[in-house]
Order: sequence, then C-alpha cells, then structure tokens
Amino acid sequence: MEQNDKQDTYMPMTSIKSGKLTQVAEHVHCFTNQIVNLYFVGQAENWVLVDAGMPKSYNKIMEQAETLFGENTKPKALILTHGHFDHVGTAEELVEKWNIPVFAHPLELPFLTGEESYSYPDPSVEGGMVAKISDLFPEEPIYLDGNISPLPEDGTVPGMPGWKWLHTPGHTPGHVSFFRESDKTLLAGDAFITVKQDELLKVVMQTKEVNGPPRYYTPDWDASEISVQKLAAIHPKAAGTGHGIPMFGDELTAGLQKLVRNFKTIAVPDYGKYVEGQAKDE
Ligand SMILES: [Zn+2]
Ligand SMILES: [Zn+2]
Repeated sequence: MEQNDKQDTYMPMTSIKSGKLTQVAEHVHCFTNQIVNLYFVGQAENWVLVDAGMPKSYNKIMEQAETLFGENTKPKALILTHGHFDHVGTAEELVEKWNIPVFAHPLELPFLTGEESYSYPDPSVEGGMVAKISDLFPEEPIYLDGNISPLPEDGTVPGMPGWKWLHTPGHTPGHVSFFRESDKTLLAGDAFITVKQDELLKVVMQTKEVNGPPRYYTPDWDASEISVQKLAAIHPKAAGTGHGIPMFGDELTAGLQKLVRNFKTIAVPDYGKYVEGQAKDE
C-alpha cells in the first residue's frame, strides 16, 4: 500500500524488500499495522509476537510472519505490552488459529479476560484528532481466559531468551516494556511513543519525537512519569514503541532525556478528566 511505501524513507535499517518491516535490532522487526506497531522477535522456528495489532489483521500479520520466517510459520507465544484494543485487536483470532499461549502482566489480566474494562477513553483531553475520535474505540473486552498466563515473576520473557520484562505502569496498570541488555534494545509499548500526539493517526507524515504515552487513554500520569524515568535510566540504544517509528542512538537518548526533564509540559495534557484539578464528571 502507498502508506507503507512512503514509510521507507524513515527506515534506517530495512533488511526486508517488502518495505513493510523495519529492523529495530538483531532478530527484532517492527510491523506497522494501521496506527499501531507490533513486533516479531526471534528467528525461524523460535519467534514470538509482541502485541497483536488492530482487529481483523490476521492475514496481514501472517503475511509479514511468512516473509520473515517462511511459510506456515507460527510463533511460540504472543506477549502483550498491555491490553488496549489497538494492541490486542487480533489476539483472539491469532490464539484460535495458532493455538499459542499468551502472556501479560498479572495486573493486566483482568482486562484480557473480560473481568474488567479500562476507563472509557477521555475524548475531552488535550491532544488533537486522536482524542476526538477516541469515542469510536470499542468498549467490548476481549476474552483470552484459557490461553493467557502471567509473565514469570523472575522477569524472564517466555520465548524471548536474553530479554527481561519491566513493569512500566501509568498508561495502564499492568503495562510492561521489554529490554534486551546485550544490545540495549527496548520495546516500550505505550510507556512512551515516538510520534507527536496529534499526529498519531497520520501514518504517512509522522513527525518523529519522543513523547509521553497516548493521552486519550492514560489515567495515571504520576506512575507514567516514573515509568519513563525508569526506561531512560536503562539507556536504551534502540527503541520500538507502540506508535511511531523506531528510534536509535543519540536521537533516542536526547529525546528521552528531554521527556524526563519536561514530562509535565511534554506529556501531561493541560486539561482532561485524568488531570488533577481539571476533573470532569461524566
Ligand atoms: Zn495503549
Ligand atoms: Zn497504543
């Protein structure tokens, strides 16, 4: 599609001809599925999918998987950064087709088994177009009951040797990021993103910049700030986020430092129902 071809200009390490995949680091590929990114981590028979994209994306995800790993391939597991609809959209379908286990943080499980729903997204928040359309987001929870387990307590990640999960709450209670110490590669989910908030939906001309988590859906800004500090402190050299384009080296370091120093002005919206003193009753 034209959108994806356009994105070629932003790809610093593209190794795949199709142009739909961006290499973030060794054995880590980013696939942009409409407005959200998902990640293929691993190689040949041993890979996992991190996040499950938008609803009804099975064919697109499968196409990318086959490009990377060969025909009729399937992952060892689906690992979730958190349970928002744009990150779990195809989860139920993938689990059904592939019969694979799913892992998420224990605090995120209630949102993935139909026990709890996220607070309704905040369409009143400062942040432009995305906030305005957040009314359209599905409210229906997903049901992964029989297939989902908590991530191991020792910090390891099933199917991702060499990686650790880090609890990075704020955007959601059980939000996690994944870090590979050997080459300092970070998959940050929505703990921070690399696109301007109000350009999140513009797939073609996104301005690259380190930003706080998506505003329309972040209820706890204090926790979110601590999570960003935690991620900056591990000094990632490559970062793939839930939205935006992978970032590397000095640009990433500078962007994260700027976000840490100015979290309240850059990330926290000036108004909206989750911002203190601005509470707005439904
Ligand atoms: Zn999210
Ligand atoms: Zn997201």
